[in-house]
Amino acid sequence: MRVGIGRDCHRLVEGRRLVIGGVAMDSPRGADAHSDGDVLLHALIDALLGAVGLGDIGDHFPDTDPQYEGADSRDLLRRTVALVRRNGMSVHNVDATVMLERPKLGPLKQQMREQIAADLGISPGRVNVKAKTAEGLGAVGGGEAIEAEAVVLLEE
Ligand SMILES: [Zn+2]
Repeated sequence: MRVGIGRDCHRLVEGRRLVIGGVAMDSPRGADAHSDGDVLLHALIDALLGAVGLGDIGDHFPDTDPQYEGADSRDLLRRTVALVRRNGMSVHNVDATVMLERPKLGPLKQQMREQIAADLGISPGRVNVKAKTAEGLGAVGGGEAIEAEAVVLLEE
């Protein structure tokens, strides 16, 4: 077994789509990013790379590379999973938390779980997505930022 942890943060700005866990949210503000800015999938990609000891998302998909402009993070996730498999590992389970003030993730959490599970090649019951507000405190509480963290367990 190998464990990995990942964390990500994006500034929220007007005129950008907000995509979390591969699901487009109904929000007037979205993540300011080179790719689609999917904070949850970026944290998960870092956790996967961490567990196999292969650095971080910036090493594999640099934001200075024009080929990742507007990149679909689900595509980056699937490429990361392929890398995990090439290293002789498979994903056992994932736990993740998204921190944002609004909108509420609510029922969309189930859709996120299903999409992430499909990309990881495991059942949705092995992917947990939690949502928390920052109780109005700091950049997340003020609606200026979104954060996520993820933990994965891999098995040989
Ligand atoms: Zn990111």
